[in-house]
Amino acid sequence: MLDVVGLSSRYGRIEVLHDVTMTVSAGHIVALIGANGAGKTTLLRAISGVQPISAGQITFKDKSLNGVKACARVKMGLSQSPEGRQVFAGLSVEDNLRLGGWTKSKADSNTGLQTAYQMFPILYEKKSLPAGSLSGGQQQMLAIARALMSQPDMLLLDEPSMGLSPLLIDQVFEAVCSLRDRGLTIVLVEQNANLALSIADQACVMETGRIVLKGTGSALQADPRVRELYLGDS
Ligand code: ATP
Repeated sequence: MLDVVGLSSRYGRIEVLHDVTMTVSAGHIVALIGANGAGKTTLLRAISGVQPISAGQITFKDKSLNGVKACARVKMGLSQSPEGRQVFAGLSVEDNLRLGGWTKSKADSNTGLQTAYQMFPILYEKKSLPAGSLSGGQQQMLAIARALMSQPDMLLLDEPSMGLSPLLIDQVFEAVCSLRDRGLTIVLVEQNANLALSIADQACVMETGRIVLKGTGSALQADPRVRELYLGDS
């Protein structure tokens, strides 16, 4: 579904992604793991089109994304749930969701709302409240649900476990797995490497702007170097 080939990206004169090549197959969860500053968020942002690239090719559903604006990529079926959730705190939960469905007709948006509320009933209970009044876990659910309102084929999900209690992390990861079970393709950036690898079909390890290791989630979970560096084995 997604092919990234030889991708580089820079902030000003400093290149932070170097020659990144990865493939994401339809219906898979692909996890990106790596230390802080490895370039995971920058790679997601380059795929969604909010971060410029300086070299390489991105192909999504057999169409080149090079030169395609971020808003057009949403219409093509790509959606991102950003790091730090970035909900519109002063708007109601429902208005946040409706904004996520800006590419859709009113009827599709209404259907999307029903789906979001079925998946996360707490959002229905709080639909008229300001998003800023939700707990961290609820805001994470809102960020994911908002990204799903455009009915994407691929979800780019950045750090869904950040700041959540273990119970809420379980709930969010269950939701992520159920989305994959319904056919959604997901690229998951996650600090909690063990959890990410445990649900990933494929995974990539990033170090200083490069992909240094690729494999199935379970192969990387068993890899001695990954175990030592990212899974806390000594
Ligand atoms: P984290 O888990 O901390 O978010 P990450 O793997 O997602 O890390 P990025 O946030 O993509 O890494 O950062 C990659 C590199 O780019 C880092 O060296 C970071 O300092 C730098 N960087 C990120 N955002 C900017 C920015 N807006 N301006 C300049 N440099 C940036």
